[in-house]
Amino acid sequence: MAATMGTAFAQDTPDPTMTARIREEGLNHSQVMDIAFHLTDVSGPRLSGSPGLKRAQDWAVDQLKTWGMVNVKREDWGKFGKGWEIQKNYVAMTVPYYHALIGIPKAWTPGTNGAIKGEVVYFKVDTITDLAKYKGKLKGKIIITDAAAPKEQNFETLPGRFTDAQLDTMARATPAQGLAGGAPGLTGPIPGHIAAAGGARNGGGGGARGGRGGFGGRGVNANTLAQFELDEGVGLILTQARGTDGTVFTTNGASHADTAHMVSPSLETSSEDYQRILRLVKAGVPVTLEADIKTEFFTKDLEGYNVVGEIPGTDPKLKDQLVMLGGHFDSWHAATGGTDNASGSAVMLEAMRILSRIGFHPRRTIRIALWSAEEEGELGSSGYVANHFGDIYTMTLKPEQSKVSAYYNIDNGTGKIRGIFLQQNAAAGPIFQQWLAPFKDLGATTVTIANTASTDHAALDAIGIPGFQFIQDPMDYMARTHHSNQDTYDKINPDDMKQMATIVASFVYNTAQRDDMIPRKALPAPRPARGARGAGAAARPATTTGNN
Ligand SMILES: [Zn+2]
Repeated sequence: MAATMGTAFAQDTPDPTMTARIREEGLNHSQVMDIAFHLTDVSGPRLSGSPGLKRAQDWAVDQLKTWGMVNVKREDWGKFGKGWEIQKNYVAMTVPYYHALIGIPKAWTPGTNGAIKGEVVYFKVDTITDLAKYKGKLKGKIIITDAAAPKEQNFETLPGRFTDAQLDTMARATPAQGLAGGAPGLTGPIPGHIAAAGGARNGGGGGARGGRGGFGGRGVNANTLAQFELDEGVGLILTQARGTDGTVFTTNGASHADTAHMVSPSLETSSEDYQRILRLVKAGVPVTLEADIKTEFFTKDLEGYNVVGEIPGTDPKLKDQLVMLGGHFDSWHAATGGTDNASGSAVMLEAMRILSRIGFHPRRTIRIALWSAEEEGELGSSGYVANHFGDIYTMTLKPEQSKVSAYYNIDNGTGKIRGIFLQQNAAAGPIFQQWLAPFKDLGATTVTIANTASTDHAALDAIGIPGFQFIQDPMDYMARTHHSNQDTYDKINPDDMKQMATIVASFVYNTAQRDDMIPRKALPAPRPARGARGAGAAARPATTTGNN
């Protein structure tokens, strides 16, 4: 059969024996949930630069070594900035009655410097002249500002799994549609990544989502406001978090840069708690809160690190070439980053374990990279690209750029793989169709020309290395888990995780063994000159503002 179908077909028919061994190990002897447990419950939040991220990185390094990987290390990718973590977070309403609030300090904001207790002040500033009314009146006070109540969400109607019709639409996407990004024909966004990076001096990150978003647009500059609050000695700023039903989607309240300006303590509060307090104070009912928030900045080591490790290649002609797989290891701080992105990281670690466990000696070298600082703008992967592959602003390439066959990324939550985004690489389509064929029974069939953006494969794609992200079922990633205080181990679906690790291991296996490298697109044009970027950032693509 192969002879009549041409060499491309023969080359890309997966070896059924190896596929069966990968499936057996990945589906029936999985350790992916144990890996996820160590990344989440055991390590804690993995905000970039935090002790939690370091704990998880150290564990991953040990684990990769235990599995027999080589060249395993935390690799410095460049300057990140300050680390930060929450060490105490208590806030409750005590008048007119006791109620414990759901609230999370904004990342990179200071704490309350001990326990504070005070009346909540309704702070309404529409123009710069309004500030005068509050001069001398805010010292130690807890302030709240107008914010629209969120529309009620009905989770029953939110997407869980892609329908056949949706997948069919994606499969039939044309390059032109694909260029627009995302998946055509879908009502919701394809989960991408990256929160608004860096943040302004205050009100950064979440911006218009929170209770403070209106100020900038109504005549008072956010930086002016932040300086006023700081100068007046505000005790605590309450902001309304995006989310309902106790879900708090977190953001940063200041930049991670070591040069960032000081801001006031800032608490992102659940919309229900926020709206209750707002209704009371606007009705003239006195509200008293007590709070005790301690956050810690870490400035000794301002560098950022990725975790890397390899299964060495064995083919004399191909072992210097690479297959890469990865995902971002960092998370936001309100929970343990279960679906964003312990799930993707655990899948990639498990894929490495599977390939090692079955005794696979690849032709090409297989390298895992678990990135940091994705949430601040793909900084870890972009720094790695700059160090290893070249400069996207001049398209000056380093020799290693020519040696990477492909990079595979997972960063869309816990939903199982339904296919793969070609990222406009049409020539890879027929290859991936055949590689997905053995996984039809597991629901992975769709190859779409479309792009998906805003996560780390884009950093490699930007330097001309074929970088791919898989299509994953959305589950409740956008509605509930990613970046939120609900992003815990519990939201990770074991069966979906096993499926993902098995398919990724198979793709990596096939890429490692293929005679030729994965076809490449034309080298991208150099990026426009570096514009305004977050301080402390290494060279990286222009900031994409998305949802991951
Ligand atoms: Zn993510």
